[in-house]
Amino acid sequence: MSNEDTLDQIEVVDGDITKQRVDAIVNAANKTLLGGGGMDGAIHRAAGPELLAECRTLGGCATGQAKITQGYRLPAQWVIHTVGPVWRNGQHGEDDLLASCYRNSFALAEQHRLRTIAFPCISTGVYGFPMDRAARIAIRETRAHLRNSQSVVNVILVCFGAQAYEIHSRALREVFPRS
Ligand code: ADP
Repeated sequence: MSNEDTLDQIEVVDGDITKQRVDAIVNAANKTLLGGGGMDGAIHRAAGPELLAECRTLGGCATGQAKITQGYRLPAQWVIHTVGPVWRNGQHGEDDLLASCYRNSFALAEQHRLRTIAFPCISTGVYGFPMDRAARIAIRETRAHLRNSQSVVNVILVCFGAQAYEIHSRALREVFPRS
C-alpha cells in the first residue's frame, strides 16, 4: 500500500469542534464526564442540558477509554467522550493512553456505523501533552484505522487556532511523506 493510501480521507482544519457537521464529534472530556472548561464546556453549552443529563447516567470514564452519547442540539448526531492522559513527563504511558483514546473512539464509531468523525487535539490543552507529539499519534492512529475501517470514511482533525493547524499540517506531511 502506498503512503498516500488514506491521505484524502483525513482533513486538518482550523475551526471549532462544536460547529462540525459530521456524524460524531469527539469530546476531550475529564473522568467525571460531567463537563468542564475549555472545549468540554463549549460542547455542553452548544449541545444543551440534555447532554449533561445523559452523561450523568454513564458513571464516568477511565483515561484512554471512550463512551458515546447523543449530540442533542449540536449539528453532530453523536458525541464520543474520551478522556486523554494528563501529561507528566512522557514516562507514564501517556503516548499509549492517547493512542487508546483514538482507537476506542474509532471502535465506537464503527459499532454505530458512523461515516464521519471530527476529533479535537486531545490532551493538548490543560492536560499539557506536547502538541507535536500528540499530533503524530493522532495522525498515525487515524491512518491505521482508515486502512482497516468498515464504516468510517472521513476524519476531520479540528485544530483550534493557527499554531495548532500548522503543527498538524506538518505532522500530516511527516506521516504521509510523499504528500
Ligand atoms: P484536554 O483537557 O484534553 O487538554 P482541552 O479542552 O483543555 O482538553 O483542550 C484540548 C484542545 O482543544 C486544545 O488544543 C484546545 O486549544 C482545543 N480547543 C479548545 N476549544 C476548542 C473548540 N471549541 N474546538 C476545537 N478545539 C478546541
